[in-house]
This record gives sequence, C-alpha cells and structure tokens, in this order.
Amino acid sequence: MSKTYYETLGVTQTASFEEIKRAFRVKAKACHPDYHPDDPDASAKFKEINEAYEVLKDEQKRAAYDRYGHDAYVNGMNGQGGFGQGFGGFDFGGTGFENIFDEVFNAFGGGRRRGPAGPARGSDLRYNLEIDLAEAYAGVKKSIQVETYVKCDTCAGRGGKNLETCATCGGTGHVRTRQGFFVVETECPVCHGTGKTVKDPCPDCKGTGRLRKKRNLEVNIPAGVDTGVRMRLAGEGDAPLNGGETGDLYVFVSVKEHPIFKRDGADLYCEIPIPMATAALGGEVLVPTMDGKGETVKIKPGLQTGSDMKLKGKGMPILRTNSFGDLYVIFRVETPTNLTQKQKDLLREFAAAGQNNQSACDDFLSKIKKIWKEL
Ligand SMILES: [Zn+2]
Ligand SMILES: [Zn+2]
Repeated sequence: MSKTYYETLGVTQTASFEEIKRAFRVKAKACHPDYHPDDPDASAKFKEINEAYEVLKDEQKRAAYDRYGHDAYVNGMNGQGGFGQGFGGFDFGGTGFENIFDEVFNAFGGGRRRGPAGPARGSDLRYNLEIDLAEAYAGVKKSIQVETYVKCDTCAGRGGKNLETCATCGGTGHVRTRQGFFVVETECPVCHGTGKTVKDPCPDCKGTGRLRKKRNLEVNIPAGVDTGVRMRLAGEGDAPLNGGETGDLYVFVSVKEHPIFKRDGADLYCEIPIPMATAALGGEVLVPTMDGKGETVKIKPGLQTGSDMKLKGKGMPILRTNSFGDLYVIFRVETPTNLTQKQKDLLREFAAAGQNNQSACDDFLSKIKKIWKEL
C-alpha cells in the first residue's frame, strides 16, 4: 500500500480546497529542487507532491480518487467507470440546444502523464441539454448534434506512416517547463504526449490521426430525470491523437422551470387560487396534474389561504422505478377586486350581519389589546 495523496500533502481526507492548496505550497517550497540541488530525494519528493496536488485540487479527480482508492487510481483508471453518481455543483447556464462543449474533462490519472506514453485516450466531453418538465415527466428521446474528433479512416487513426521517437521529449511524452517559482511537467507540445512523431503524415488529418466531424446522436432521457442527472454515452467523446481509445460524452441534463409546478425531487408543488366565495362556502376545484388529466378536488367550507392538500402519486416519476412522488396543492384565497356596486352592497350587508366566524381576527385583536395594556 503506497502513501495516499492526502498523506503526501499531510492533510486529512476531509480537507477543504484551501487547506490542500496551503499544504501544497508549504510542502512544495520546502523540497523544491532549486533550493536543494544536492539532495537527490528533493526532486522525487517534489514530484510526488505535485502529483498529489494535481489530483486533489480537481474536484472530479479527487472524487474519483476517493471512490476508487489510491492504488486503483494510480494504476490507471483511465477514466473508465465514470466519476460516480451525482456530483452536483455545476453551473448549467441556459445553454439549451446549441453545441456547447464548455467543459473538457481529461481522463483521470493514468495514461498520458505517466509516460513513456502509449496511445492516449481521447477527451471526455460535456454536452448541456435542457428539457422541460413535461419531457422529464414522460421521458424523451432527444437528438443532439455534436462536433467531436473522430478517427481518421485514411490512416486508421495512426496519423501516417513511419512512426519515430519524438525528438522534443525523447519519447517520454512530457516536457518540463518553468512557471514562475515551479518547474512543471506538461504534455509534450510536439507529440501531444504520445512520445512518437510521424515521418510521413497522413494528408487527410495532417498527421493527427483524427478529424473534426459533426454528428447526430440520440439520447434517451428516462422519465423522472432532474437537473444534475448526467448520462454517459460511452465512446462518443473525442478520438485521441494518433490512435487509442475514444473518450466519452457526458450529457448533463437540466430541467426548465415550469410556470405552474415547482419541483422538489419527485414531489411537485402547485399553488391554486380559490375564489373567496368558494373558500367560504366550499365547492370543487380542478387541480392540474402532469399527466394532463387534472383532478377535481373537494373544498371544505372555510378554506384558508396557505392550507394544503396532498394528491398521492401525482408528482414526478421516480427515476428507474415505477413509483411517483406526490403533488402538494397549496390554496390561496383570492380577495375580489374591482367590485360592482351590487357586490359592494352585498359585502357590506354581509359584514353588517356580524362576523361570528372571524375567530382568527378576534384572536389577533385581543392579543394586540393585551400587548398595549402591558406597555
Ligand atoms: Zn514529444
Ligand atoms: Zn489520417
């Protein structure tokens, strides 16, 4: 069992990003090779610290690391298996249906950084898909257009004939550059981390082994999805440079606000205005439901604003089950405005007939009187 990245940086597994950053700075300074030119261990230690920080500073990489454990992660997860369910905290913006790949995830660990590189893995891509509540309720098949790198058929993704070792990086796939205080190891800009260059480049892909292409994909959105649900289309991401495994495409779903229903998980909330007379006398009212049928509910005489009612099973479907959430109806009594003369007369008559049923008002008044007396 090797040292975990947390141990390398000397922080706990629950450390915040700020704590990790601070620990990294202190440690990196302490063993920076430039300050310890005679200490052969310093360089190795510095590399270790950098490696730990690379992973722990990145929310997704850290999540994957926590999930799979140090050894599994370091031995090359290659991004397989996804980043675990339901990480929240992304900003979905109102991107709708345009082709937006605003986030390019690089594969976790493994692969490129740990040269001498074999074929790299293509980037995982993100597509933001906005759907409306009715689509989330029923489930929907969406066709999306994406533009990704695909393997060049002419050279079968190899980039051309006669591969030779990259002269820039000596075949390691990475180069060391100085960024201010630190020496950073980055992907070789010439061979893009593969360690190989092509002597006779393919004319179609100019030696990269891939081409950009617009493609139409179908996405099956299951009933019950909510904002934050992420769907993985395996192998639909970018083809890598010079052959290797294609990345995945992640479709991030967001559900638009509905004009009537508010959603909380599988439950829905809906405010229904009730005419004053119906509220006082009782009656029936039609409540809209997501299945489009609506449901007539009985109102008891004396309904108050803010009182609610639960319609069991009239909420959203629960993802990958046959169950449904509930619909909560919240009533709001409407005080009439723009009264006609006749209505005004009737209401005055009503008021003059005594307000024996206004117990809340009477209670309130007696409370106020009591407070005044105490002052
Ligand atoms: Zn190179
Ligand atoms: Zn080609």
